[in-house]
Amino acid sequence: MKTLVLASDQLGLPSERTARAITAAQQLGRTDLLAAGHNSREKALAAHYFAGVETIWRLVPKPTLPASIESIALHIARLAPQYRWIIAAQDRFTLDVMARVGGLLGLAPLTQVHAILPNDQVSRMIHAGQALAKVQLKQFPALLSIRPTAFPPAAITANPTPIVDMEYNETTQPTSDHLGYHSLTHQRPDLADAKIVVAGGLGLETAGSFQAVEELADHLGAAVGATRGAVDAGLAASELQIGQTGRIIAPKLYVGMGLSGAIQHVAGIKDSEMIAAINHDPAAPIHAIADVSLVADLFDAAPRLGHLIATRSKGIC
Ligand SMILES: Cc1cc2nc3c(=O)[nH]c(=O)nc-3n(C[C@H](O)[C@H](O)[C@H](O)COP(=O)(O)OP(=O)(O)OC[C@H]3O[C@@H](n4cnc5c(N)ncnc54)[C@H](O)[C@@H]3O)c2cc1C
Repeated sequence: MKTLVLASDQLGLPSERTARAITAAQQLGRTDLLAAGHNSREKALAAHYFAGVETIWRLVPKPTLPASIESIALHIARLAPQYRWIIAAQDRFTLDVMARVGGLLGLAPLTQVHAILPNDQVSRMIHAGQALAKVQLKQFPALLSIRPTAFPPAAITANPTPIVDMEYNETTQPTSDHLGYHSLTHQRPDLADAKIVVAGGLGLETAGSFQAVEELADHLGAAVGATRGAVDAGLAASELQIGQTGRIIAPKLYVGMGLSGAIQHVAGIKDSEMIAAINHDPAAPIHAIADVSLVADLFDAAPRLGHLIATRSKGIC
């Protein structure tokens, strides 16, 4: 039996996360892809040059019935008997859908999967990435949310995969309607795909704003991220949270400012190629994992750090 990949949501842009989920699916055999949501057309078009997909199903929203998370989940649950595995790269959209598919099928989705193993086994990260669990799957279809950073993107092919339209065949109205997206960071790269990320923590609280983080990010052409501490303090939007309960990132360069390096935050940055940190407490855990570390007041040192990184990371920035 085949594997179904649910395409990720990326504001209609070609999705590297979807390409990574396809790689994971190919390790399990023949693969189809489902593009669903109000931007299903853009998702299908973005995916049809990824190699190794047999069919792209495009769920066409009806004007009278918008593509809600509930209706997408219902549709996948109806397709489920044809598939042994249903896979998605972990993001807010796919987690929402997979949880509902699990509810409809009476199955628990497995999250944080970072490796596909032989004989229906997978490996997943637990305890904020501090331990790995090997899981033997016994119920199918199995629902897997993969860590996108753990799989390389699928190759590009010159022969595009055919896109087959499917109608929503629902009789019930959804409980919520998608009204549209509004990007809060549209002038900066998307956090999940940025090559450079500058993240701030509660150390910014005294300033009452994220301005120092944003200035350094703009200096480096980077995306802005935040700790949960900063989000809870109202310094940053929840979309910017990185970590166990936020976004998982793997930039070439991550810069953490005024954050301690709690394990729940580090769970989201551990795949970064280079970690730079600025924290005035020499005992802060972030210094222990940083490649470039400044024990200094961030408001004094952030401009100097920007200069240091720009000169040391030539070829990255
Ligand atoms: C179930 C669960 C899930 C969680 N999920 C997440 C998650 O997804 N992401 C996440 O980030 N957290 C998460 N947390 C919270 C996490 O445990 C930490 O509480 C949080 O990450 C701390 O945020 P922080 O580093 O900004 O704040 P703090 O730990 O308070 O650190 C602030 C740091 O700033 C430094 N500092 C202060 N002023 C300055 C200055 N002027 N110059 C330089 N340095 C300065 C201090 O020395 C300190 O080290 C989770 C917690 C739980 C229990």
